[in-house]
Order: sequence, then C-alpha cells, then structure tokens
Amino acid sequence: MLASAEARILSGGTDFYPALGERVVREPVVDISGLREIRGISREADRFRIGGLTTWTEIIRSPLPRCFDALKGAAREIGSVQIQNRGTIAGNLCNASPAADGVPPLLVLDAEVELSSKAGIRQMPLVEFLVGNRKTKRRKDELLTAVLVPRTLDDAASVFLKLGARRYLVISISMVAAVVRLDSNGRVLEARIAVGSCSAVAQRLRMLERHLVGVSVRDGLANIVASEHLVPLSPIDDLRATAEYRRDAALRLVRRALDRCGESK
Ligand SMILES: Cc1cc2nc3c(=O)[nH]c(=O)nc-3n(C[C@H](O)[C@H](O)[C@H](O)COP(=O)(O)OP(=O)(O)OC[C@H]3O[C@@H](n4cnc5c(N)ncnc54)[C@H](O)[C@@H]3O)c2cc1C
Repeated sequence: MLASAEARILSGGTDFYPALGERVVREPVVDISGLREIRGISREADRFRIGGLTTWTEIIRSPLPRCFDALKGAAREIGSVQIQNRGTIAGNLCNASPAADGVPPLLVLDAEVELSSKAGIRQMPLVEFLVGNRKTKRRKDELLTAVLVPRTLDDAASVFLKLGARRYLVISISMVAAVVRLDSNGRVLEARIAVGSCSAVAQRLRMLERHLVGVSVRDGLANIVASEHLVPLSPIDDLRATAEYRRDAALRLVRRALDRCGESK
C-alpha cells in the first residue's frame, strides 16, 4: 500500500491523532501497530537494534548498558505512562518535533535509522535523517523499521535532563542528553552532548565535546562549559518560553548533566 498509494503510517497514534485536530483522515492509512517483526530490542555483535515499533515502556524495561540511561530517562519523561505504553521510537523520530525527547539521547549514541520499502533497505545517521521542524529524509513509501546503536560506548555514564513548565506530562522547554566516557583516573576520554527544543533540530555541541577531552572530574566538568559552546543553538520565543530563557536553561542543564555523569564514575 505504501508503494502504490499516498498512504499515511499509523503506529501508536499519540502524535498522529492529536495532529489531526477536528479533521477526518481522507487518505489511506496503513496501521503498522501489529507488526511484531519490527518490535523489541536485540543485541548484535557490534550494535543494538531497536525495532521501530518498540514502545517507550519497552525501552524503560529492557536491560541495556549504562550509555542507554539517557534514553531510558527520556522514555520515562515522555508524556505519561499511558503515552509511554503506546508511543513508539519510530513515531517520535518520524514526527520530527523540535521537542521530541527521544532525539538528543539517540544523537549522543550516534544512532542510525533503518528505512525499508519495496525498493530495498537503507540506513542513515539520525543526524542526517532529521532535516528540520517536522521534516525528515524519509520517502513516503518507507517505513522506519529500526534504530541502530553502535556498541562503542557501552559502559559510559549517560544522563537526560528535561525542563518543562511542570514536572510531568509536559513539552520540553529545553532538554539535554550527555554521555561521558572516563579513563581510570577520571579524565574524559570522550564526551557527547546534545540539546533539544532550542533549535529546529536537536544539536550536538561539538566544540564543547572537544574541549572536554582530557578534563578531570576532580576539576568539575561543568566548569568548562561557557555560553560560546551553545553557538549551534538557535532558540525561538514561543508560548512556552523566550529564546533567552531557553538558552540560559540549556546552559544550566548542560552543566548539571556533565556533573551528574562525572559523579556516576
Ligand atoms: C499527551 C501527550 C504527551 C506527550 N508527551 C511527549 C513528551 O513529553 N515528549 C515527546 O517527545 N513526545 C511526547 N508526545 C508525543 C508522542 O507520544 C511521541 O512522539 C511518540 O513517541 C509518538 O509515537 P507513536 O507511535 O504514537 O507515533 P504516531 O502518532 O503513530 O506517528 C507519528 C508520526 O510518525 C509516523 N510514523 C510512525 N511510525 C512510523 C514508522 N515506523 N515509519 C515511518 N513513519 C512512522 C506517522 O505517520 C506520523 O506521521 C506526547 C503525546 C501526547 C498525546
């Protein structure tokens, strides 16, 4: 159906239905929620495969290495338990909201997406897949069948922090995911940080990542974070917050996330 008609894909429906508002769907809808083949998490030799239909609840409950703690943290903060039971990882990525909580934790894991259609299967880094507010490189006939996470950071500490106008059931004003790998002396071998809700697509802070290499947790990882490190962000004013507030919140969340990663050495 996807190959032959302009059909829309329906997974958990937690973005699909709210986006419709009062409108009625006129085009064909392909409900994929029964496709067990693309659900669940498996461990392969050099990567983890998270099926596109895997729900946030399944991610929370799966035994995964420490570098997935940020993704689990995000999963716990997506809507409510009911939303986590229905909402899928593919739906979050394909909906491509700037405030999608699943994106920063997957960016810091260097995740790739697997896209399948009658024409074949292709993979691409998540960072290339997301191209703008509600825009992705998915072709209309493609299903996002899996998220692939390379096993390069298994034992690294990771943290997700989200700021909203209240504690639960809230859209992010700003959120941060960080993964930090330390050597036995507590010096940073590798750091990856991504910020969401502060630009059309969540951004990695590459300059900060470079500056963190070699820094010791004893000196405080947060101390090196400066506003110049947030240059990749382009926050906007909207009903949730001003751009200035978002930038300030992002700076504080990045510092806090790095300190938490350092503490959990
Ligand atoms: C009350 C409420 C609170 C929420 N809170 C949060 C929150 O805190 N943080 C957050 O990030 N999100 C939140 N959401 C949004 C939503 O729950 C998540 O983005 C969820 O992961 C979407 O998954 P889904 O399976 O329900 O997607 P659906 O609604 O089924 O689909 C979303 C979009 O993705 C496409 N799609 C779905 N699956 C595929 C696939 N496998 N391949 C290709 N295209 C696909 C659909 O065609 C549609 O365009 C909330 C939603 C609600 C209703």
